[in-house]
Amino acid sequence: MLENKYKLGFFPTPIQHLKNLSEVYPDYTIFIKRDDNTGLASGGNKTRKLEYLIQKALDEGCNAIITAGAQQSNHCRQTAAACSIAGLACHLMLGGNEPEQYDGNLLLSSLLGATIYFTGENRKGEDIHLLKNKLEKKGDKCFVIPYGGSSITGALGFVNAVKELKTQLTEQNLLIDYIFFASSSGGMQAGLTLGLELFKLDVELVPINIDKAETYGLSLEEVILNIVQKGTKIMGIKREFELSDITLNKEYDKAGYGVVTSNEKRAIQELARKEGILLDPVYTGRAFYGMLHFLNEKKIRPNSNVLFWHTGGLPAIFSYANDLK
Ligand SMILES: *Cc1c(COP(=O)(O)O)cnc(C)c1O
Repeated sequence: MLENKYKLGFFPTPIQHLKNLSEVYPDYTIFIKRDDNTGLASGGNKTRKLEYLIQKALDEGCNAIITAGAQQSNHCRQTAAACSIAGLACHLMLGGNEPEQYDGNLLLSSLLGATIYFTGENRKGEDIHLLKNKLEKKGDKCFVIPYGGSSITGALGFVNAVKELKTQLTEQNLLIDYIFFASSSGGMQAGLTLGLELFKLDVELVPINIDKAETYGLSLEEVILNIVQKGTKIMGIKREFELSDITLNKEYDKAGYGVVTSNEKRAIQELARKEGILLDPVYTGRAFYGMLHFLNEKKIRPNSNVLFWHTGGLPAIFSYANDLK
C-alpha cells in the first residue's frame, strides 16, 4: 500500500541540528526536518500527500484534478506542479475575489498552468461538486482532492514519512522525544499518528493548531479521527482511537487563519537570524512561535530532544510583505 505512489519529490528530507538556537534554550536540543525542501515547485509537506493522491487519480483513469484552498494555498500550488508532471489538468477553487495583482502561491499556481476559480467566502472546497458536474458533462474524468489533500490516501504520505524518519533516526543514532508541527487540514497529523503506531516509534506529537474555523461543520479533531479510523482499518492496526487521543494545541490560533501577528513575525525572525532558515507566515511561523513558547515555559520535559517539522510555505511570505517588514 505504501509502495503505490507517484514520485514527485526528493526524499528523505534532511534532519538538521539547530546548534545556535539550542544554545538559546539550553534545556533542549532542537532539530528540524526540512520538508520545505521536498523539491516540488519550492517544496512543502503536500508533496508527500500528492505522491499517493496523484497515483490514485492515474489508477482510476482520471484526466483532471480539482482541489481547493485559500489564495495563498501551498497545497494548491504543489497540486498544480504535480499535475504538470503527471500530465493532468489542474482546477483550483480558491477563496476570495480575484486580486488585481497575483503574488506568492497564487502567482506560482497560475505560472504552473492551473485553471483558477475564485469562490468568495468558500475556501475549503464547498463548491467542488458543481465544478465536477460541469467538467464531467464535457467529458472529463475528475479526481477530487479534498481541502489540504487530507483524505486517508493523502495521509499515507505521512505514514510513510514516519518510516523515513525512523530509518534516519536509526542511521544517525538519534532519539527524538517531541515533534512540533503546524496542523491545519489534519492529513499530516492523521498520517503521523498512524505511522507512529504502525512503525512503533515512541515520540510525542505536539501539533500546533493553525485554523480555528471548522471544516464542513466538523472540528479538526473529528476530521483527524475520521482519517485515523479509516487508516487503522486498512492497515490492520489493533489500537482503537477515540476523540481524546487526538490532541491539538489551540493557544496560538486566536488571530484567525492567515492573519499574521507580531508572534509569527518574531518566530520567523528568530529562526532566520539564528540559523538562516526561512519559515512561512501562515503555518510554520505560527507553529514555531508555539514551540518557542513551549520551550520558554518549559511545558515539555527539560533535557529532551525536540524536532520541528518544517512543512514549507515560503512563497506566501511575498504576499505578507507589509506584515513582515
Ligand atoms: C498544509 C500545510 C500545513 C498543515 O498540514 P495539514 O496536513 O493540512 O494539517 C502545515 N504547513 C504548511 C506550510 C502547509 O502548507
